[in-house]
Amino acid sequence: MKILKVMEIVIEMLFPQRCPCCDELLDEEEKKWGFCKRCRKKRHLVSGNFCLKCGKQLVKEQQEYCGDCKKTEHSFREGRGVYVYDNTMRPAMYRFKYGNRRCYGRIFASDAKKRWGTWLSRVQPDVICPVPMYERKKRKRGYNQARVWAAALGKELDLPVDEAALRRVRGTRPQKELNPAARAANLRNAFYVDPARVRGKRILLADDIYTTGATADEASEKLMEAGAREVFVFCICTGAEG
Ligand SMILES: [Zn+2]
Ligand SMILES: [Zn+2]
Repeated sequence: MKILKVMEIVIEMLFPQRCPCCDELLDEEEKKWGFCKRCRKKRHLVSGNFCLKCGKQLVKEQQEYCGDCKKTEHSFREGRGVYVYDNTMRPAMYRFKYGNRRCYGRIFASDAKKRWGTWLSRVQPDVICPVPMYERKKRKRGYNQARVWAAALGKELDLPVDEAALRRVRGTRPQKELNPAARAANLRNAFYVDPARVRGKRILLADDIYTTGATADEASEKLMEAGAREVFVFCICTGAEG
């Protein structure tokens, strides 16, 4: 035990905790929140008026659904995001994805529980499934950020995580390079679901950022086809519309 404590101190000295948004060192009080004082004020938890279907932040009053959900039929039941994907959260997501800052997962999951605890107790997911990354890409990058997010959520919410239920069976081009129509085509037949692992279950599909919902839709469709009872999408960040 003593050795573990010493190791913890050494790790803290080598890699002191920094703010996910601005990368500044955190003081003792800020460590409790996971963000520095300034960014804690600046980052926006999705709140007030949000799309009842996909969870996107809405700015206009008395609007129930975002423009996209008004015209598109999604294959998931509901989606929610923890933070608005804005200039404060963008660098945090970049480091979480490409900068090996897997430690952010715990901070995001803690805010997720605080913000969406009530929703989660209504949804009652049986299992969390991360949106998978193609194996070759994962080897190159070292890890899949959706999986880190799912694992942190599982710990925070005391829910099982199944990484083998939903698999990516072929590589795809990065979605951000494509227009909406090309995004859907790009993902066709990219996922495989093991029916035995999802049949009759309520799935919480964990992904990092919700934009057009193309990935969430394609993965949810496959999960539903394989016999899942319902799919709910849970992202760290989501866009705003208004
Ligand atoms: Zn900061
Ligand atoms: Zn929506």
